[in-house]
Amino acid sequence: MDNPMLRLFFFCMLILCIWQCAEGLQCIECQYCNRPGGAPNTTCYTAKGYCMSIIVRDKEKDKNGLRISNKEVIRINRQCLHKKEFILEGRALMCHVSELMKDQQNVRCCKDQDFCNSVVPELRPLKSEEGGKQSSGSDISPMEMVVVIALPIMALVVITIVAVYAYCYCRRRPRPYAPPPDQNVDTNPLMGSQPSSLKELYDWSQSGSGSGLPLLVQRTIARQIRLCEIIGKGRYGEVWRGNWRGENVAVKIFPSREERSWYREAEIYQTVMLRHENILGFIAADNKDNGTWTQLWLITDYYENGSLFDYLNRQTISPTSMIRLAHTAAGGMAHLHMEILGAQGKPAIAHRDLKSKNILVKNNGTCCIADLGLAVGHNSKTDKVDIANSNRVGTKRYMAPECLDGSINMEHFESFKRADVYSFGLVLWEIARRCSVGGIFEEFQLPYYDVVPSDPSLEDMRKIVCGDKQRPAIPNRWQNIESLRVMARLMKECWYSNSAARLTALRIRKTLAGLADQEDLKI
Ligand code: ADP
Ligand code: MG
Repeated sequence: MDNPMLRLFFFCMLILCIWQCAEGLQCIECQYCNRPGGAPNTTCYTAKGYCMSIIVRDKEKDKNGLRISNKEVIRINRQCLHKKEFILEGRALMCHVSELMKDQQNVRCCKDQDFCNSVVPELRPLKSEEGGKQSSGSDISPMEMVVVIALPIMALVVITIVAVYAYCYCRRRPRPYAPPPDQNVDTNPLMGSQPSSLKELYDWSQSGSGSGLPLLVQRTIARQIRLCEIIGKGRYGEVWRGNWRGENVAVKIFPSREERSWYREAEIYQTVMLRHENILGFIAADNKDNGTWTQLWLITDYYENGSLFDYLNRQTISPTSMIRLAHTAAGGMAHLHMEILGAQGKPAIAHRDLKSKNILVKNNGTCCIADLGLAVGHNSKTDKVDIANSNRVGTKRYMAPECLDGSINMEHFESFKRADVYSFGLVLWEIARRCSVGGIFEEFQLPYYDVVPSDPSLEDMRKIVCGDKQRPAIPNRWQNIESLRVMARLMKECWYSNSAARLTALRIRKTLAGLADQEDLKI
C-alpha cells in the first residue's frame, strides 16, 4: 500500500464501488410535456442513476419544436439520468451547468428519494431584468474560461487514465480458474507434456496432489471442447454433451449469477483423494469471460445412460443389475462420507442432495454420484462443517425428517451423513421397484408419489414424513425373493425417524457387497 499509484487506484475503486452500490430510483418523466401536444407526465426508473429536472428559457415553439414567435417561455423537462450518461459519482457532466449559462438554463440532479425531480432548479434573472445588460460571451474573464473549459477537460483526462490503469490491473489480477488470458495452445509451456486423451488425463491428474489437473491445463482443455447437444437441465443451468479430441465429455454450464455454486462444485470435485470409480470423474472447470458476461463451465466424464432416474424410467432390471446399481451407488456414498487421514488424506464429505437424478449410470451398469454442488466437508481437527449452510437445502421429496422439521443439529457433521443415508434409502426403493423377477416388477415412481403432489412443498413433506411417519410401501412380492428382501431391510434401516439408528454408508455398502458375491456364485 506504499505505492502512491496503488493508493490512488484503491481510492478510485472505492468511489466506483460507492457509485455501483447506488440503489434504484423512480423519477418523474416529462419530456417537453409543457410544449403544445407534449407527452403527459409519466414515471421512469433508473437502476444506478439520478432524477433530473431541467429548466430552460426558450421561445414559443410549435409541437414540432419550431419557433412560432419571439415570445419568451420557460420550459421544464424532467427525466431519468442513467448510469451510462455520467462519469463519476457527484460529477455527472449532464448535471453541470456553467454559472454563465444559469440565466438561460439550469439543471438539478438528485437521488435522495423517489420523484425528487418534482423540485425544479431556479433560473438566474436576466441582467436586463436586474436593470443591467444581458450577459454575453465577451463578459467571460480568462479565469472563468479556465474554470469552465480547462477543468472539465483535465478531469476527463485524469478519469480516463485511472480507468485504463484500473482495467489493466483487473486483467492482470489472478482469479480462481483464470490463468493468463487465452493461451495459444502451441506456445503453452505445458503443452509438450499435455495429455491427449481422457485416459492420459486421468493418469496426469492422479500424479500430482491427487486433486485434479493444473488450472492452465483445465482451461486449455475447456477451450478445445465443442458443445454438441443438451442432455440435462437441473437446478442451476444446462448440461451438454461435448466433444474433446473425439471423446465425449459432459459440460455443466452455470449462468454467471451462479458463480458461487460453480466455484463450490469445482472446489469439492478437486478435494484431494476424492477421485473414485463411483464418483463422477471431474475433468476441468473454466470461466469464459467475453467482457460482458461470464460463462462458467464444469467439465466431467460423460455417461450416455444419463441419470439413474432416466435409466430406471426407461427399463426394468434383473436382480444382478439391481444389486450392481445399489452396491456401486453405496460405494460412492461411502467414499464421500469416509475421512482418509494423513498428508494426502481426504475430509469426510456429505452430499446433501442424494436422489436418483443426481446419480449417473455408467456404460457397465455401475453408478457414480454426481452433482456435488451442495456438498459439505468436515474439518476433523476443528470439528467444523466447512461452509455456512442451512438445513433447508436439497430436494424436499428426499429430505430427511430432521431436515424437514428443522431439528437437525448442524454443528454435528454426522447429522449430514445420516440425512444422506435417509435419502439413499429412498433411492434403493426406486431401484428395487424396477427389479423384474418372473416378469413381475413395479412401474417407476418417485418416493411418496402416492401421497404428495408432483412438486411438494416443505409442509406437504413434513406432514407425511414427520407427522404421519409414512415411508414408501414395500410390495409383498419382495419378501419372496432373497435380493429384494435384503434391499427392503436395508431401505427400512436407512429411513428410521431416529437418525442415530440408521445404517452407515459403509454398512450398506458391505451388505450389498455380500449380496453381490452371492449373485456372482449363482452365475
Ligand atoms: P444440477 O446441479 O443443475 O441439478 P446435475 O449435475 O444434477 O445438475 O445434472 C442435471 C442432469 O444432467 C442430470 O440429472 C443428468 O440427467 C444430466 N447429467 C449431468 N451430468 C451428466 C453426465 N456427466 N453424463 C450424462 N448426463 C449427465
Ligand atoms: Mg442435480
